[in-house]
Amino acid sequence: MLPIDEAARLVFDGVAPLRPERVALADARGRFLAAPLTARFDDPPFDASAMDGYAVRAADVAQVPAALALRGESRAGEPSSHVVGPGEAVRIFTGAVVPEGADAVVIQEDTDRDGDTVHVSEAAAVGANIRITGEVIRAGAPLLEPGARMHPGEIAFAASHGHAVVAVHRRPRVAILSTGDELRELGAPRARGDIYDSNTHGLAAAVREAGGVPVVLPLGADTAARLTGLINDGLTCDALVTTGGVSVGEYDLVRGALADAGVEEIFWKVRLKPGKPVRYGRTEAGVPAFGLPGNPVSTMVTFEVFVRPVLRMMLGDPFPHRPRRRVTLSQPARAPDTRTELARARLDGDVAHRLTGRGSGDMSSLVGMDALIVLPEGAGVVGEADALDLRMGARAATSPWEA
Ligand code: AMP
Ligand code: MG
Repeated sequence: MLPIDEAARLVFDGVAPLRPERVALADARGRFLAAPLTARFDDPPFDASAMDGYAVRAADVAQVPAALALRGESRAGEPSSHVVGPGEAVRIFTGAVVPEGADAVVIQEDTDRDGDTVHVSEAAAVGANIRITGEVIRAGAPLLEPGARMHPGEIAFAASHGHAVVAVHRRPRVAILSTGDELRELGAPRARGDIYDSNTHGLAAAVREAGGVPVVLPLGADTAARLTGLINDGLTCDALVTTGGVSVGEYDLVRGALADAGVEEIFWKVRLKPGKPVRYGRTEAGVPAFGLPGNPVSTMVTFEVFVRPVLRMMLGDPFPHRPRRRVTLSQPARAPDTRTELARARLDGDVAHRLTGRGSGDMSSLVGMDALIVLPEGAGVVGEADALDLRMGARAATSPWEA
């Protein structure tokens, strides 16, 4: 049985971002640039006033008080064509083009207007209150690098250079196949022995949260032929996630069905609690297929450990991993002897409160979960541990399982 770090390396090594697609800027939110964006022009594109005031020749206001003759106005979107001569001023507003001849803007607060005469009470140096052409960025210079994550700020920056369409990595389409004869769809009648399929719903939400697009397959009955057919459908996506049927029971047919569908088995079983029977493989074409255990807590934990980072890598995220950080446990915990346990927990500052529930079948331990506490195999009773921080925005460049 593999330790988690080895299993994680087998899954993560060599995963590449999906090919780029061009999307409308608004649809790029949360995605990662696949190609650099460059400045299309100097920014600012013209010498612009940073304040409301008067455009003047600095030499004319070196000695104050000074009286200048007013010669029209320059406002945002409507430049003045007047060339400012000695002893002249042009009324100007924030964002307007500084007229030719002027080399400073005197702020309104330092002036007094009397008809067509402007009295200036404070001196202004050359360049005062002017944003010079290209002072932010020069035409052709890089605006955003490949791998940049398109947050609202990046989107605004791209828009300022007229980029209406940008190249980002495609979102992974993830086929979800829940298997088990006992499973019923929500709303369907439930006979004795039946349960509602919760894994599909949890996984679809987790895929979306990771930036992927869930493709939900019909529920898989526990027959080999049916499963192989569904798995073949799922393998047309960028990744396949199955749940259930990977353990050692007579009706655990998913391993065999994956093999029949051409998914080479890279590992089966990891020294992990919960989630031991997880199976991982790839097709010849490189499509990853994750056989997650059916137990809903195991499903969500193994998705988090193995699937989510792969989806982030496919999206082109340079920080595809959860960070690992040290926490104090509100109650000491005992690590198992032969497996590493990932215990669900809620974080309160640096203190982790374990969400226990009644064993790994009890989904209430997933409610309010924002960390997985790492209890390394054989560590005995511990009062402190590392935890994977699952909260939004928590991102790391390296796998939490790297030494
Ligand atoms: P299995 O891995 O197929 O042996 O399933 C382990 C346990 O998880 C069994 O109690 C199943 O009934 C349950 N289970 C399997 N798949 C699902 C699912 N999609 N939703 C809820 N529970 C499930
Ligand atoms: Mg089953």
